[in-house]
Amino acid sequence: MLDGPPGGGYRSPMRRAHAAEVAVVDLAVCDRCGLCLPLCPPEAIHLELSDLVVDRQACTGCRKCVAPCPVGALAMVDA
Ligand code: SF4
Ligand code: SF4
Repeated sequence: MLDGPPGGGYRSPMRRAHAAEVAVVDLAVCDRCGLCLPLCPPEAIHLELSDLVVDRQACTGCRKCVAPCPVGALAMVDA
């Protein structure tokens, strides 16, 4: 079943692909604490081989991960 209104809710893949901004991680700063992973609504943040990865196609640009990062490793950039 689809979320949101008929014709595509906020979780639709098309909406995700057109986010104006996406989150990026500075791996020189990230301490791999994992705090940001459960904060991301579309689950766009993953740990791969111990490094944090943001899936640019899945990121909706919601910014919910940026402020909570204790070391300021996450930032928004133009998509
Ligand atoms: S919250 Fe910040 S330091 Fe922790 S894993 Fe996420 S980006 Fe890295
Ligand atoms: S900006 Fe939002 S969607 Fe993108 S990685 Fe951060 S929490 Fe996830």
